[in-house]
Amino acid sequence: MIRVEHLKKYFAIKQGFLRKRTMWLKAVDDVSFEIKKGETFGLVGESGSGKSTLGRTILRLYEPTSGKVYFGETEITALPKEELKKIRPKMQMIYQDPYSSLNPRLTVFDIIAEPLKEHGYEHVRDRILELLEAVGLSEEHANKYPDELSGGQCQRVAIARALALDPEFIVLDEPTSALDVSVQAQVLNLLEDLKKDLRLTYLFISHDLGVVRYLADKVGVMYLGKIVESGDINQVFDHPKHPYTKMLLESIPIPDPKVRSIRRHKIVRGEIPSPLTPPSGCRFHPRCPYAKDICKKEEPEMIELERGHFVRCHFAEEM
Ligand code: SF4
Ligand code: MG
Repeated sequence: MIRVEHLKKYFAIKQGFLRKRTMWLKAVDDVSFEIKKGETFGLVGESGSGKSTLGRTILRLYEPTSGKVYFGETEITALPKEELKKIRPKMQMIYQDPYSSLNPRLTVFDIIAEPLKEHGYEHVRDRILELLEAVGLSEEHANKYPDELSGGQCQRVAIARALALDPEFIVLDEPTSALDVSVQAQVLNLLEDLKKDLRLTYLFISHDLGVVRYLADKVGVMYLGKIVESGDINQVFDHPKHPYTKMLLESIPIPDPKVRSIRRHKIVRGEIPSPLTPPSGCRFHPRCPYAKDICKKEEPEMIELERGHFVRCHFAEEM
C-alpha cells in the first residue's frame, strides 16, 4: 500500500555571520521501505532520529527533498496540489499531544464535523455519532470542549476525526506517549481493534519498543536519518543484527518483581550526535562497541541478510 523509495528530507539551516552560511540538516536521508495493506509498520529510534519527519514527509505534510512515495499505484510525490487534496482523506495523521492537535475553541462535534463538511458530507450528525461510538465515546461528549475531557478522551476525539473520511493509511506519531500509563493500553487496544475492523494500514512511530513489539508486524530502526535495520518484528527483536538495535533492545525497562519497580537493564550509551554534523562513514561508529577502522571511512550499504531482513552494517553477517 505504501512504498517509499530513496526518500530524503533536508532542511536548510542558516548559520554564521549574517546567516550567510547554509548547512543542511539531513533529517531523512535516503530511506526506502514498504508497508503492505493491513500491516502495522513500527518505526523506532531515539528522539532526533528523524522518525516524525519521515512520517510527515510520507504524507507530504513536508515536501520531500528527493525520492518517491507511492500510495498504491499513485506516486503521491508527483501529484499536483489539487490532486493531492483529493487523495488526502485516505491518508491521515494522529499526533502525540491530543490537546494541542484539537482546536480548543471548538466542541467535539465541530472538531469532527470540520473534515466532513469540507468534503461535502450530508448526514454529518449521524456520522459523528457513529464515529464517537467507534472510538468508545458517546453523544454526551459531543458538546464538550477539549479542556473538559481527559487526555485519553481527547486522543479518542483525534482518532474519530482522523477516521471521519474513511482513511486507508494512518501515520500515528507517538499516539500514546503523552497519556497516563493506565490509559495507554486502552488507546492501543482501540487502535488495534479499529485497524482490524476498518482494514487500516498503520505507520506507528514510537520510542517505546515494548509498544511496538505488541502492535507492529514489521519494524524499521532509525538512526540519524537512516533506517539501519528492518524486517519482521520477531526477526528483528529476537535476532537483532545491527549494534544500534541491540543497544535499544538492551535498554528496554524490565519489570523486576523482586524490587517491585522498573529497573533499567542497561542504559543506552552516549548521546545521539547532531544530525547537522553526522559522523563520517557509519553514523553509529562513535557509539558502536564493534566499530573498526572501516566504519569511520565507509558508509555501509543496506544488505538483505535473510529474506526481508535488512541491515546497514559492515559486519552484519558476523553479528
Ligand atoms: Fe558498528 Fe561498524 Fe556496523 Fe557501524 S558499520 S554498526 S560502526 S560495526
Ligand atoms: Mg518525534
